Amino acid sequence: MAYFTSRTENGRHFLQIPGPSNVPDRVLRALDNPTMDHRGPDFGVLGKTVLEKLKPVFGTEQPVIIYPASGTGAWEAALVNTLSPGDTVLMCETGWFAHLWQELAERLGLKPRLLETDWRRAADVPAIEAALRADRAHEIKAVCVVHNETSTGCTSRIDEVRRAMDAAGHPALLMVDTISSLGSVEFRHDDWGVDVTISGSQKGLMLPPGISFNAVSAKALKAADTARLPRSYWDWKPMLASNATGYFPYTPATNMLYALDAALDLLMNEGLANVFARHERHAEATRRAVRAWGLEIQCEDPRHFSPVLTAVRVPEGHSANALRGAILERFDMSLGNGLGRLNDRVFRIGHLGALNDLTLLGALGGVEMGLRVAGVPHSAGGVKAAMDLLSGNA
Ligand SMILES: *Cc1c(COP(=O)(O)O)cnc(C)c1O
Repeated sequence: MAYFTSRTENGRHFLQIPGPSNVPDRVLRALDNPTMDHRGPDFGVLGKTVLEKLKPVFGTEQPVIIYPASGTGAWEAALVNTLSPGDTVLMCETGWFAHLWQELAERLGLKPRLLETDWRRAADVPAIEAALRADRAHEIKAVCVVHNETSTGCTSRIDEVRRAMDAAGHPALLMVDTISSLGSVEFRHDDWGVDVTISGSQKGLMLPPGISFNAVSAKALKAADTARLPRSYWDWKPMLASNATGYFPYTPATNMLYALDAALDLLMNEGLANVFARHERHAEATRRAVRAWGLEIQCEDPRHFSPVLTAVRVPEGHSANALRGAILERFDMSLGNGLGRLNDRVFRIGHLGALNDLTLLGALGGVEMGLRVAGVPHSAGGVKAAMDLLSGNA
């Protein structure tokens, strides 16, 4: 069938949403291997290989669990393995994804206590510390933070959250959603004392959607011994028992594991530090373009600018959705939409995963032409500002 009716066949479609991100050809080729017997002798080698290779990306020497599920499943897994009905969880409402996680927690019978923001900044670390200090009875069982809030383009400082928890002397678990940051932004599960790190395949890991992860600390595993939320499919214990020999308790997403192996090789060959620096540089080039256009960046705090995406506000009286529609129709590029209360107010430029300078310039060129086509007031020169940075002229 014709999967794409909204585009031409001339050249590549530009997929510049902040995930799913573009899948490198080498990863696509890896998917195209014969599906193997997941109980046969070869499978354990593949399983063990990817389970080990994943660890440095999370910054951990502890187990990482792989689910055949989207990131949302891994959110649920983190909560049901560690908590009991009625438990209080402290959640930082940094944007749409934090909001969805909170709704999921409520549906599971947990009691989220919210630290709200205006969706223009990262998690409020002093507010976390104050909430924990005030909780003398230790009712709060977990602190939940989205590392990179994909709806706003604000990245929270997990090292600072850890220090605040330590300063308050509070025993709550720390759970971090790194679905859109892992493999793009530095993350240290062990050093930052994170208890459950949640992630997904389709953003910085450059894979198609379909698998997701929990990295689990010893403290989280201990909490699982007494946690009473019902769980079966998500249960860590049978997973870890099978994973010890490279196998899984139910059918894993075999071909996605080939792809994961290839994607992890790409990240390791480039070097994680280089990958993170590349994301920072492309993010800075994008912000220079946005400023040159005279448009406003949704994230108001430069300390928390996201290396993964930039959410751009359209001027009052203009429609971000109409702009995105014009860009898709005229220039065959998909940009991220505004989520929740930001619907039609922002568009999001993804600059993550498999991306080089010229692809970014093409994307920014598409935005600049789109602003013109859609009649959104702006100044020309965004692409030039990005070129100046990328060519070392800035
Ligand atoms: C994409 C994303 C999710 C949702 O993941 P799914 O794979 O769509 O379930 C959750 N949190 C963040 C921060 C995300 O970027």
